[in-house]
Amino acid sequence: MSPTSPASPPPPSGDARDPQPFTVSPPDGHADTPPSSSTAPPSSTPAPFTTGPSTSAPASSSTGPSTSAPASSSTGPSTSAPASFITPAPFSTPAPGGSRTTPPRPFDIAAHFPELRALAMTTTRLHPRPGAPTVADSSVGGPLLWPADEPWPFCQDGDKHYVHQLHKPATVRRDREIQAAARGRNLTAAERDEMSGWDFSEPHELVAQPIPLIPVAQLYRRDIPDFIGPDDRDLLQVLWCPLDHPDDGYNPRVRVLWRRTTDIIGPLTVPPDPPVVRDDYLPTACAVHPEHIVEYPPPDVLPPDLCERINEWEEDLDEDFSYESDLSLAPGWKVGGFADCSVPDVWEWECTECGAEMRLLLAVASGEWGDGESWRPPQDPPGTDCYITDICIGRGWDLNIMQCPASYDHPIIAFGN
Ligand SMILES: [Zn+2]
Ligand SMILES: [Zn+2]
Repeated sequence: MSPTSPASPPPPSGDARDPQPFTVSPPDGHADTPPSSSTAPPSSTPAPFTTGPSTSAPASSSTGPSTSAPASSSTGPSTSAPASFITPAPFSTPAPGGSRTTPPRPFDIAAHFPELRALAMTTTRLHPRPGAPTVADSSVGGPLLWPADEPWPFCQDGDKHYVHQLHKPATVRRDREIQAAARGRNLTAAERDEMSGWDFSEPHELVAQPIPLIPVAQLYRRDIPDFIGPDDRDLLQVLWCPLDHPDDGYNPRVRVLWRRTTDIIGPLTVPPDPPVVRDDYLPTACAVHPEHIVEYPPPDVLPPDLCERINEWEEDLDEDFSYESDLSLAPGWKVGGFADCSVPDVWEWECTECGAEMRLLLAVASGEWGDGESWRPPQDPPGTDCYITDICIGRGWDLNIMQCPASYDHPIIAFGN
């Protein structure tokens, strides 16, 4: 974690040991208005992806080692968007109506190190849980509100994909159904027979055909306090090609769209299903339970002096929690806030177009909480499997989708961590 040179002791902390409620109120204006129908100009011009099986432009991309999928998204008159820095005051208001909440932090670190307050950001934890979302809902892995007259995007990377094992989506879903039904007991012989084997793969040649992108997330502005998007767009859609792309850090290739729901008429009812996927990249359809919380910077981006003092405080701490694991970044799917960059150890991602420091648009997580479970909502009983969406990035990492604050037209970057 960080330097160990001597530094001044932290100021006395008063009641810093009191667990702190960690949520903040979502903003007003969350009217639950379903998307209306009218006309449907695509809000975004597919850049690295082709749109339709008959086209053939390869999905170019690659923005450096371990990055993935610059899915540029033109969004009409785009503007720079304000960062979501705040000065958090009392974090005492639980998210109203939220069916998942973050437990109070085990220590009020900002009372002990008040300078952290100026460095805080908010994030919206999505808390995806299996459900049956519709196109009118914010969701993870759910159906997208997609204009019927807009071509669905395809990836044409063909044999440039890295392929290990391939499954049909229906096979992956059936395997998961069987596993879910057998939770808490051993599989029966019949269930074992029905499930695809651990080394099963569809023929690798199947990736030669155009691969329809699949829905990863659909987020309505009304639901997401930290929604990031052009002022005149109220819907964020994230899709990806559910295969490994060597040019993109062996990650799925991401595409991001911002839409105006009032522009969408006659939504597409049956999107194409890819012929094959990597099972780790097929999210189980989940409803989301957004919660607006405060985060503090990860140790690597703290001012060095402050980082040293927090390290010293931790060394004297005889507790089973740490700043890095329990008091700074929230794990799991989230919109905005701090990106965890500890694996690539690159803490500033610059826009390939203008050089601006990029910000976290969406973290696509493998797990919703870590081993210590301090971030597990109390609504999920102890022992709940944290791999809720069935997504696995790398070795159980996140895919951080970064966006340029200067323009929504500039390419996104996605990197696995
Ligand atoms: Zn692809
Ligand atoms: Zn830029």
